[in-house]
Amino acid sequence: MRKVVKFGGSSLASAEQFKKVGDIIRSDSERKFVVPSAPGKRHSKDTKVTDMLYACYETAEKEEDFKEQLNAIKARYEEIINGLSLTLSLDSEFKKIEADFKKKAGKDYAASRGEYLNGIIMAHYLKYTFIDAAEVIFFDENGDFDADKTNKILSERLEKVESAVIPGFYGSYENGVVKTFSRGGSDVTGSIVAKAVKADVYENWTDVSGFLIADPRIIENPEGIETITYRELRELSYMGATVLHEDAIFPVRQEGIPINIRNTNAPEDNGTWIVGSTCQKSKYVITGIAGKKGFCAVNIEKDMMNSEIGFGRKVLQAFEENGISFEHVPSGIDTMTVFVHQDEFMHKEQKVVGSIHRLANPDSIDIESDLALIAVVGRGMRATRGTAGRIFSALAHVNVNVKMIDQGSSELNIIIGVANSDFEAAIKAIYDIFVISQL
Ligand code: ASP
Repeated sequence: MRKVVKFGGSSLASAEQFKKVGDIIRSDSERKFVVPSAPGKRHSKDTKVTDMLYACYETAEKEEDFKEQLNAIKARYEEIINGLSLTLSLDSEFKKIEADFKKKAGKDYAASRGEYLNGIIMAHYLKYTFIDAAEVIFFDENGDFDADKTNKILSERLEKVESAVIPGFYGSYENGVVKTFSRGGSDVTGSIVAKAVKADVYENWTDVSGFLIADPRIIENPEGIETITYRELRELSYMGATVLHEDAIFPVRQEGIPINIRNTNAPEDNGTWIVGSTCQKSKYVITGIAGKKGFCAVNIEKDMMNSEIGFGRKVLQAFEENGISFEHVPSGIDTMTVFVHQDEFMHKEQKVVGSIHRLANPDSIDIESDLALIAVVGRGMRATRGTAGRIFSALAHVNVNVKMIDQGSSELNIIIGVANSDFEAAIKAIYDIFVISQL
């Protein structure tokens, strides 16, 4: 068995956290490939090293004195090194970083140093080989991740070592210039490494014991999810779950490698397993509920819309031309509604409306704002009758008006649109009917 283990920022925020991580890795000889994040927050008011680096580089870019900011970052690492009693000095690394900041080496380079330095410490601590991600993870000239080149070079490199630490979050362009993934991107690196070594499992260690059925800010003490499929997770993550970077599932999904989300602060918990497919029945009909506020519905009406070829394309073209992505497009015989993110749409609404008029010549356009979308997701729905009926009677019971319904033909999810103000009540009602009432 080969395991790739990724540790998030809060798991590596201090020497004390590093020790927990060390214990976890040493307790299982299969944990050979380690992907660390940069040190995160030690307490709720703390600042992540990545954010400190962005701020420090901003000062450097303005050609102002950034020495104090850089020293504060150095102090974070020194606290870890000293706390672990390591004989390691990062002086020369910080000299180089200072010089590179002065030369304006780029914002991505600046942010990537968080993972890079933590990787050096981790490798030293574990006595594993350190591999700079800039040498093995690549982006093409458009800034897109180059999966083929990366997999080839990374797997060849990792074949030669017994164990390694590969910092998360960044890679490089062909010319060696450093580029990062989007925030939280160490999750993606872990997945790429798991694919390259053909791992049996990708363990993603964080500060929660896996996914919860619903958001704990809305539901008090929600139950955890034991097993979830990649497809179910896509439906949930896309609606706002935050535990795992949404791009992290693609590299391992192709290879059929499961992801196990684990808690560094409670290593005995099984966490959540994310798998390709499973015959494990989830405990409840639904696997999870997720949602997001802040959508707008653009309702477009035109008589005989159903027989006008190309109407839908023209409407969507209006959104495309204005650089706006849509979430859902439920339709009726003479109506079509496009759900968009309000914050994206707000500034461009009149331009979009103008474009729709010009391109599709509708009878009327009406915009409704402050809507929330809720996804109720579960592989169990397919085999269970009455799921939609139960959702809607639960919502009616708490006086929530349903504004939109969308069920994918995969029968994996039902999406419901409600007013922002009904969002929490709707989630509570759905959780109650599927989970609480089954306990
Ligand atoms: N350190 C980076 C961030 O804060 C990447 C990561 O932690 O995955 O976004």
